[in-house]
Amino acid sequence: MSEKLLFQGGCHCELIKFEFRSPNEVEVWTCNCSICSVTDFHHLFVRHSDFTLVSGKEFLTSYQFGTQTAEHLFCRRCGVKSFYQPRSHPDSYSIDIRCVKTPPTIGRVVEFDGKNHQGAVE
Ligand SMILES: [Zn+2]
Repeated sequence: MSEKLLFQGGCHCELIKFEFRSPNEVEVWTCNCSICSVTDFHHLFVRHSDFTLVSGKEFLTSYQFGTQTAEHLFCRRCGVKSFYQPRSHPDSYSIDIRCVKTPPTIGRVVEFDGKNHQGAVE
């Protein structure tokens, strides 16, 4: 287990800001399910205990569909979904690695076939 570093990210207008702890080299998932494909979300899974929402909680709006398990969170000012609660990883948030200021290195990209799986990242 490599040492974890502190990273910062958020939405475009910077109302939503978060920090998280992560190894400096990470695995990122892409997914072809109905919602991930329209946003081209690049998932970095971070455990709830390694994640802190620094500001903007009151500006988060959620969107749910299908099984209503995932909670898609986006900024109600700029519309950017910088992180959310995925169905596939109930103990983690999924952060879009493109919303991280100085992101960790991507060691591996997993192409998840969410369209054809019950356990879609979604
Ligand atoms: Zn925003």
